[in-house]
Amino acid sequence: TLVKVLPVTVETRSPDEARCLGERLAETLRPGDLVILSGDLGAGKTTFTQGVGVGLGVRGDVTSPTFVISRVHPSLDDGPPLVHVDAYRLGGPSTGSGTRLDELDDLDLDASLDEAVTVVEWGEGVAEGLADTRLEVRITRGRGDDVEDARTVTFVPVGARWAGAGLAHLLTGALA
Ligand code: ADP
Ligand code: MG
Repeated sequence: TLVKVLPVTVETRSPDEARCLGERLAETLRPGDLVILSGDLGAGKTTFTQGVGVGLGVRGDVTSPTFVISRVHPSLDDGPPLVHVDAYRLGGPSTGSGTRLDELDDLDLDASLDEAVTVVEWGEGVAEGLADTRLEVRITRGRGDDVEDARTVTFVPVGARWAGAGLAHLLTGALA
């Protein structure tokens, strides 16, 4: 029987908590995984990815790759590299999603995605075709607009990869 893993929603209340959450997720990430981040500008996609980078133990500061579109961070130990993509500038407003995926495919990502952990900001509707299975991470501001630094982060696992991965347990544990 195919197990369907339900979405997991958590709240972070600071950039540090967002990084801790990314670091926590990294514990379960392995080569070939695709993580698609969505959320408005300033939602915290890059901040979350910084935590993933820490958790993977990669080299180089994780900053927004908006102008370079993608950046590869090699692992400092024998772990997978982090391929960090910002899909915001791929294609134009008039191009269809097929075209944008082609452009993403055509990027010289300089690492085989099968061997890397790939995190794509603004990847919704763009990057799904890069793998059969993916983890969508949707970040929205606040719970209401009452708390300036609060973010609601919803993890939506898509595909058999996440069955038995213990995501809910991992992600809802107390943050350091
Ligand atoms: P994005 O990549 O989605 O455009 P960034 O991560 O670059 O967003 O920016 C998020 C901004 O919001 C940063 O200045 C960060 O310090 C701040 N911030 C405040 N609270 C949080 C939180 N809970 N999670 C993530 N970022 C937060
Ligand atoms: Mg960003």
